[in-house]
Amino acid sequence: MDYNTLQSDFRNIKGWVFDLDDTLYPPTGEIYAQMAKRICEYVMKTLNLDEKEATVIQKEYYRKYGATVWGLMVEHDVDPEDFTNYVHELDLSSLKKNPRLKKCLDNLPNKKFVFTNGAYQHAERVLERLGLTECFSGIFSIREAEYIPKPALQTYLKMLETFSLNAKESVMFDDSPANILGAKRAGMRTVWISSNVENNKYCSVDTQDFCDYETPDLITFLSALLMDKSA
Ligand SMILES: [Mg+2]
Repeated sequence: MDYNTLQSDFRNIKGWVFDLDDTLYPPTGEIYAQMAKRICEYVMKTLNLDEKEATVIQKEYYRKYGATVWGLMVEHDVDPEDFTNYVHELDLSSLKKNPRLKKCLDNLPNKKFVFTNGAYQHAERVLERLGLTECFSGIFSIREAEYIPKPALQTYLKMLETFSLNAKESVMFDDSPANILGAKRAGMRTVWISSNVENNKYCSVDTQDFCDYETPDLITFLSALLMDKSA
């Protein structure tokens, strides 16, 4: 990485926007598995199905509507907030405080935000576990997105407007290639956190240059940007 180019490229950044899960902490299949289980449980209890039937319905809604929650809303009048809160009630004890990341975030100039497809309370809980609550000026969750998840363009625009950010002066960090492409289409600078092997396999995007920067490790990238050799 050419550090001088890197630094000049980020000199005008006023808003640092971070995805939450698998971006502010390294991918843990364990948390993802808990969430998948909660989604299945929610479908089972709401539609009165057994596990096998619920899995079939879930896959069908995902294919037809792009997300289980939309299928439940359209076909069963489910309250999306109820769904989101239920599926994000997770055991986060595997997440530990990350003082190195906190130091990097604290040293970045201007404001930092979290932009997640997850629940607001989930974001609050994760930040608390990581010891990063104080680093962020705001959280934009699926609730603020009116349940239209990334990578929908309108959701990026709404997030930018909410935080009074100009796309050209903002950067998005995300582990999902599709979400990074979405950020690029919204006019933001993009850094893809490429450590999530599952995402690399299943979430391919239709263009090679979907990101401006790629790094397997957020702290390494931010340290280079801050020229912090000790991190
Ligand atoms: Mg993520």
